Amino acid sequence: SAKNSGKRNYKFFDKSMFEAVVEKAGMEASLRQAIVNNELIVHYQPQFNLATGRVEGFESLLRWASPEYGLVTPLKFIPLAEETGMIVSIGKWVLQTACVFSQTLFAAGHGRLCTAVNISVMQLIEDDFVEMVAGVLAETGLPPECLELEITESVLMERFEENVRKLGELRRMGVRIALDDFGSGYSSLTYLKKLPITMLKMDKAFIDDITIGGVDAAITGSIIELAHQMGLTVVAEGVETEIQFKYLRQEKCDIIQGYFISRPLPPAEFINELQTCFQRSAYHFEHV
Ligand code: C2E
Ligand code: MG
Ligand code: MG
Ligand code: MG
Repeated sequence: SAKNSGKRNYKFFDKSMFEAVVEKAGMEASLRQAIVNNELIVHYQPQFNLATGRVEGFESLLRWASPEYGLVTPLKFIPLAEETGMIVSIGKWVLQTACVFSQTLFAAGHGRLCTAVNISVMQLIEDDFVEMVAGVLAETGLPPECLELEITESVLMERFEENVRKLGELRRMGVRIALDDFGSGYSSLTYLKKLPITMLKMDKAFIDDITIGGVDAAITGSIIELAHQMGLTVVAEGVETEIQFKYLRQEKCDIIQGYFISRPLPPAEFINELQTCFQRSAYHFEHV
């Protein structure tokens, strides 16, 4: 601001806005280098099946380990990657990495853990999106049933018919499709009927409401029931407390994901926890 511009009194632009532009340009250049320099990494967050009491899958979440900026959250650099188109190659790399990780776990005797991968609208609207996914599955040998693509509503609304057709093709290949952040936007359950999805991921906002109890918790219960009537698997995200855990189990939610089970972990730590903590906690949960 003009007040902070010092002795020479440059008041023609807002200093913070200028800094934001410079920071963004700098970050864009760094992100391009990040790909080349192998600074992108994927963390894995377990998805716990409430019916079987086991970790049967994980969500793959991108991070940027930047020498300049530290560990950068995707909330900060994904929008930048989308604006610049870098998300197409980055997204493909995440998909490959996640499929390879799932295969690595299987080869090491951990069973078939499915991987959920977030897909950006920029990727979906590429002409060869379906072929790209099919190619990664063929390349890595991952069964299509072990891959779940997470799509948000905003992604679907853009070029709706075309996107529904592409997702339908992937569905027929056996790939699972999840609607992410359900409840954070405008989605209604009637609209859901038009989508070739297999899963509904309830937004953390709904899960937070459980703690409050009363009507808010009842809404979450009703969503689970309706989603089940539509043949959808329900995933609750952002589960942090035992109260939420117990409520979701009581309401027959299928899968939970959240800090209550584990934070997203680097691959080596995930494997380590898979052998120890996750199975111990599964035992613990049978008794809460
Ligand atoms: P999302 O797909 O809804 O992922 C869930 C987010 O909630 C993750 O944040 C996860 O770390 C966080 N989370 C999980 N459990 C808890 C909990 O118990 N409490 C709280 N407070 N948070 C929890 P993260 O990793 O920062 O990712 C943020 C968003 O960035 C993701 O939201 C997704 O939209 C996007 N994103 C991440 N990786 C990718 C990617 O590879 N491609 C694309 N296109 N987007 C990605
Ligand atoms: Mg997601
Ligand atoms: Mg989500
Ligand atoms: Mg989200």
